[in-house]
Amino acid sequence: MRALINIDYTFDFVADAGALTCGKPGQDIEGKITELTKEFIDNGDYVVFAIDVHDKGDEYHPETKLFPPHNLRETDGRHLYGTLQQVYEENKQRSNVVFMDKTRYSAFAGTNLEIKLRERGITEVHLVGVCTDICVLHTAVDAYNKGFKIVVYKDAVASFNSAGHDWALGHFEKTLGAMVK
Ligand code: ZN
Repeated sequence: MRALINIDYTFDFVADAGALTCGKPGQDIEGKITELTKEFIDNGDYVVFAIDVHDKGDEYHPETKLFPPHNLRETDGRHLYGTLQQVYEENKQRSNVVFMDKTRYSAFAGTNLEIKLRERGITEVHLVGVCTDICVLHTAVDAYNKGFKIVVYKDAVASFNSAGHDWALGHFEKTLGAMVK
């Protein structure tokens, strides 16, 4: 059994006016990420939108010192970007589609993602979204440590940092044993 983990493909991380945007590299994967998401949903696979959430000025959150405010709770910055938002809206009532708040880079940190995957007998996680070398990377590392097989779609992940993106793709394959396709 497999699941698609859709990571942080939101207005703030992708749009030109986003608070912490990947810019063009992020916008360039819109078609592929939307197509893959539709395919997994229609196939009945478990599809999780693992989306960053922050509270404004949270003095205890480590990212407050590292990044400008982004993906603030109940703001448009957390809406999925472009056609992915439409696909989510059209399918959110389905039992295999879940929107999951996360507060750290990894989709496994402080969420019930692992429990949801295990109870469905899912052994393979497919990763798409942004940023390749931050949230996608940290999610992949946790998936590796928990014994999940990993597939990463190189045309459906992106970063504002092209060197980091390239490094992470190599790391997924050579160090985490992921299939990068
Ligand atoms: Zn964040």
